[in-house]
Amino acid sequence: MTSILERPIDFDSVFGTVAAIDDVSPHLRRVTFTGPRLGDAVTAGPDQRIKILLPPPNGSELRLPVGKDWYAGWCAQPVEERSVMRTYTVRALRPAVAELDIEFVLHGVNGPASAWVSEAALGDQIGLILPFAVDTGSTKGLLNSGVDYVPPATSLHRVLIADETALPALAGILEQLPADVRATVFVEVPDIRDIRSLPSLGRVDITWLPHAGAPEGTPKSLPEALEAASLARDVDFAWVAGESAMIKQIRRHLVNQVGLPKSAVSFQGYWKRGEPME
Ligand SMILES: Cc1cc2nc3c(=O)[nH]c(=O)nc-3n(C[C@H](O)[C@H](O)[C@H](O)COP(=O)(O)OP(=O)(O)OC[C@H]3O[C@@H](n4cnc5c(N)ncnc54)[C@H](O)[C@@H]3O)c2cc1C
Repeated sequence: MTSILERPIDFDSVFGTVAAIDDVSPHLRRVTFTGPRLGDAVTAGPDQRIKILLPPPNGSELRLPVGKDWYAGWCAQPVEERSVMRTYTVRALRPAVAELDIEFVLHGVNGPASAWVSEAALGDQIGLILPFAVDTGSTKGLLNSGVDYVPPATSLHRVLIADETALPALAGILEQLPADVRATVFVEVPDIRDIRSLPSLGRVDITWLPHAGAPEGTPKSLPEALEAASLARDVDFAWVAGESAMIKQIRRHLVNQVGLPKSAVSFQGYWKRGEPME
């Protein structure tokens, strides 16, 4: 039964045309898409997840699954004929000019999305599955609308932990952080040159963990950095996003060693080492 408090959530597929490409840093490429319906798209929060669709493995033309049952339609297609689907974050949406930005990690040509963005050019088209109606009226509505960062309204000190794939979501979260909220942030990036400015109104303390170019003695990974850190006792919420095995290890640490209740830790696997992830 649908509660009267629930509001309709609507995702649909559209073509997005590449309108701009900017290298934010050596391993992160921002692509701006435009398209007639992008002006009607919405987001439910700063880590809004969406899907991108690329041409099928058999090389045939990209066909979009349409309507409310787009997912069932996509699943019903034979694997070789079905478009390749991957998950990304809306880094920015500018409805007034029908533009949407996604920041893609350049991790090589080992995956269709990373391979596509390595070669992307102005005017290229891909499919986007975007929200056109979201339910921001409740935690359940937000989660069902495709956001995972849903801190309680009472939260005043958050721990935010991200690798490079979750850096676009983290950038959005920090931009929207209220001025009276403190954030203790840990970010793992491939290279010291991927360190960038992350503006925020909140009180933010960031530890960067570059794989390459880090000063001697810098922890090598997020779990190592977390274990070496002494987190303040007033931390009341954690958001962790990145490689699947890593986020599970961090969650165990936050619950078992730091003592955060499981319900206060939001953790999402953004990619799996050695495996494709839709
Ligand atoms: C909610 C959500 C939001 C996300 N937002 C973003 C985003 O804004 N930007 C972004 O870049 N990614 C984001 N991701 C992660 C992205 O979906 C994955 O990295 C995805 O695997 C990329 O697809 P692919 O086709 O390039 O590689 P796949 O075909 O999925 O994988 C091929 C190979 O590449 C490896 N691989 C995948 N990602 C990486 C990586 N980052 N570094 C090294 N090896 C990798 C896999 O382990 C596998 O061996 C998000 C994921 C989720 C679930």
